[in-house]
Amino acid sequence: MFQGILITKDEGVYRAQLQTIDDAVLPEGDVTVAVEWSTLNYKDGLAITGKSPVVRRFPMIPGIDFAGTVTASSHQAWKPGDKVVLNGWGVGETHCGGLAEVARVRGEWLVPLPAAFSARQAMAIGTAGYTAMLCVLALEKHGIKPVDGEILVTGANGGVGSVAVALLAKLGYTVVASTGRPAEADHLRALGAASVIERAELATPGKPLGKERWAGVVDTVGSHTLANACATTKYRGAVAACGLAGGMDFPASVAPFILRGVTLYGIDSVMAPLPVRQEAWARLARDLDIARLGAITTEIGLADAVRVGGELLEGKVRGRVVVKVAG
Ligand code: NDP
Repeated sequence: MFQGILITKDEGVYRAQLQTIDDAVLPEGDVTVAVEWSTLNYKDGLAITGKSPVVRRFPMIPGIDFAGTVTASSHQAWKPGDKVVLNGWGVGETHCGGLAEVARVRGEWLVPLPAAFSARQAMAIGTAGYTAMLCVLALEKHGIKPVDGEILVTGANGGVGSVAVALLAKLGYTVVASTGRPAEADHLRALGAASVIERAELATPGKPLGKERWAGVVDTVGSHTLANACATTKYRGAVAACGLAGGMDFPASVAPFILRGVTLYGIDSVMAPLPVRQEAWARLARDLDIARLGAITTEIGLADAVRVGGELLEGKVRGRVVVKVAG
């Protein structure tokens, strides 16, 4: 028996609560992990509130990320005592996740905890930070250099957005942060944003092509924001699209792609293959200013996870949330 958040759906009633969970709830897997830290991402908010059909099996332990120590393993790569991190792979959606004291998963889903980070820091990064790094890598591999001009980050006060701002600034890019919370502008500047614009500037229907401004874009919002970002990206620039906080639609035209050679990169963290994850984590260890990350991280306990998961979807949470699961 162990403590954790359990999501149940009985006779149509969807409920997420902290409770004692029987080991029998744990799914098949060749590695068992004592979870020390987890985190809350946008998707965890969706799972906890049931606002979107993220959870596909019941009962389910939410939590798409965790960091902890292996307690049992029949997988050749892992032995008891190993420190590990998990991001994605459907964990917290179709396979029980990290918002509980124990997780049982497949060994090939785990990566070693990078030496540069504590388990808590790895969760302060979490899927949000690792996805931000995947976006930055896409822009870099496209060949975008700091000298090419401004990089737009949308949803900048969110988890992905904040880490993207910090990473890009550290790499020398001029970052323009778009946010619906201008009161947090100083905070975004402290993270490294050169300037801050209002979310509304990009959120309404725009023209197929606008004045060229961005060398590159990290978009966490989708919908009109993504369409407008593409329409205002410079000739041969690139947009890394990873989120849908503003909507899943993409009301755009092909004009930026066929007239300006703009490239739209789709970013998926959930099923990204191991070498991609390893590269992202290695670059996070090198390029993320961990002190800046600390300044945007809030710590909660398992008992607060359900409430804060709801607040995250309401856009009330700034930066990253770590969940202390054990100790
Ligand atoms: P957060 O909730 O931490 O941040 C989302 C941010 O988006 C908010 O802080 C807010 O930023 C902005 N926002 C919220 N609602 C709206 C709206 N209606 N219109 C415009 N902007 C809005 O979430 P995460 O950072 O964890 O995730 C961001 C997005 O990326 C989510 O859609 C998530 O599902 C997706 N994601 C995708 C991944 C992938 O693998 N592709 C992995 C991780 C996340 P502000 O207040 O600054 O405006």
